[in-house]
Amino acid sequence: MPGGRQAGGEFSLIARHFTWPTPSADLGVGDDAALLRLAPDMQLAVSTDLLVAGTHFLADTDPGRLGHKSLAVNLSDMAAMGAKPRFATLALALPSVDEAWLAGFSAGMRALAGQHGTELVGGDTTRGPLSICVTILGEVPVGRALRRDGARPGDEVWVSGTLGDAAIGLALLTGSPAPALDAAGAAACIRRLEAPMPQVALGLALRGIASAALDVSDGFAADLGHVLERSGVGARIEVDRLPASPALAPFVGHPVVRDALLGGGDDYELCFTAPAAAAGEVRNAAALAGVAVTRVGCVVADGGLALVDGEGRPLQPARTGFDHFG
Ligand code: ADP
Ligand code: MG
Repeated sequence: MPGGRQAGGEFSLIARHFTWPTPSADLGVGDDAALLRLAPDMQLAVSTDLLVAGTHFLADTDPGRLGHKSLAVNLSDMAAMGAKPRFATLALALPSVDEAWLAGFSAGMRALAGQHGTELVGGDTTRGPLSICVTILGEVPVGRALRRDGARPGDEVWVSGTLGDAAIGLALLTGSPAPALDAAGAAACIRRLEAPMPQVALGLALRGIASAALDVSDGFAADLGHVLERSGVGARIEVDRLPASPALAPFVGHPVVRDALLGGGDDYELCFTAPAAAAGEVRNAAALAGVAVTRVGCVVADGGLALVDGEGRPLQPARTGFDHFG
């Protein structure tokens, strides 16, 4: 589209920073549309995430980490669907053309794309307040996607990796109340916030095993709530089982950390359900993917999310997740 763009400079900018090899595409960057092919027995999984400076990231974030994260949040959606990421497009609004920033951003995104065999096949570039919109295209055999609506009473609730680190990282960067982590712990939490690692291999390994799945982007409790609502079930979660990283483990009694485990955003772990009889298969899938998984509760017939402590006493969280319009 015309308007608001860098006449002349835009095309060389795309050529310099966003024209990467696209061996699987019939046509990649440079025409009016990319041309892509999927095998006939595959469904296309499509997801878009928009990241706006000041809302989703701090404007002074390292550009390499920002390029990484802009793709990571989309790869995480593919992981949550059990889809194999294949292609992506990138729409960028830039306040100015800063070559060093673009080079860092591009390198960060390209490195993560390379790790996941994901090819950048198009996008749009315009002048405007810094915002980044990635659309990702993945593939999954017809009928095998992990959806939010398959949880059944008697299933167990699992979560990958650890929770809350990103929220503590954000608290540290913004000067909000946070536990007194040492320098290494603080750096680890900030890395989780700025350069999350999407659980793509786990999502693929859980096909045919998990009954429902989603990625934890807004906070564990809020996101699990989406699965419960879509599946028409409830869950009982033992809050003391929620997995904490080595950085946060010494501080799980700290109220800010308790809230981060339950309600902190930006973790990009997978939360999934599976029949109790499939627990061994879940552990095998996790081992195959090289990821830790933790069983944190069970699905029940009654609607809603019940949080209980180690002795089974009900708990009331202070904060359950981020809602932009809440
Ligand atoms: P159009 O005017 O048809 O929208 P553009 O001039 O915006 O085309 O883009 C030219 C080509 O560059 C297209 O193939 C488009 O997909 C690609 N492109 C534009 N911006 C980006 C970007 N940020 N990353 C990757 N590809 C891009
Ligand atoms: Mg365009």
